[in-house]
Amino acid sequence: MKKLASLVLVLLLLCTGAAGEEDFLEEEIDLEEMLEIREDLLWDFPVALEDMEPQFIVLANKHYLLEKGYVTEPLVDIKTLKLNKDGTNANGGMRKASSGKMQLQADCAAALISLSDAAREDGFNLYLKSAYRSWQTQNTMYQNRLKKNKGKDDGWVSKPGASDHQTGLGCDVIPKSWIKKSGMNSKMAKEKECIWMAEHCHEYGFIIRYPADKEEVTEINYEPWHLRYVGIPAAKYIMENGLCLEEFTEQLQEAIRDYLARGGDPAKVEGFIQEPTDP
Ligand SMILES: [Zn+2]
Repeated sequence: MKKLASLVLVLLLLCTGAAGEEDFLEEEIDLEEMLEIREDLLWDFPVALEDMEPQFIVLANKHYLLEKGYVTEPLVDIKTLKLNKDGTNANGGMRKASSGKMQLQADCAAALISLSDAAREDGFNLYLKSAYRSWQTQNTMYQNRLKKNKGKDDGWVSKPGASDHQTGLGCDVIPKSWIKKSGMNSKMAKEKECIWMAEHCHEYGFIIRYPADKEEVTEINYEPWHLRYVGIPAAKYIMENGLCLEEFTEQLQEAIRDYLARGGDPAKVEGFIQEPTDP
């Protein structure tokens, strides 16, 4: 609202300038600058449009299903960490909980390696347990879970299209002590590695995708191990304000609607618009 009031004021000053606002007119404001100010005032949201990447903030859940063929590119393989003699990362890899192939979107992968290196420097070893999952893989996991649960969906495995892992930006990162355990649960949050991740992940562009206090919004149980890459500015805003991605998406879509209603450029926000698949 404050921004809107300022916009009206600037426009008013421009219109009434000829009628005696000499001081104002003496300062030459070029058109380019004016348009920039206008644009800035139209986008009324804590994260600038230029600071977000549409593919990094895509929401996947049971109301926003990703298509079977959806994939965030490019996907890269995560190497298993090799250390130099001085303890620095020799091959741009990270420790893994299993030897299988794991892939993530390239920017997300690079950010995760930085996060893992920083954690190691602070004395914490993080292990990648799960990364990108295709629609087909998720479908197999979901069907298996249903069979095991006599057809009941218990909320632990997402439906195909609803998994954050299909974005290529979601990953499960765990402490060493949990590698051999058969399941994962919210008790993991007490581990020093998870406390470190919750404190520092936003510095590398990650959020805790399924927070403890947002189970009703995400409709997913608390997962202290599941990190989701959204880019640093969005991650900072989300983590510092205690939001989940669903709430962020809601706020962002509202901001886009306001921006367009005020005459903002549709081309600038087009890629950010996301609508539920089951409205
Ligand atoms: Zn996960």
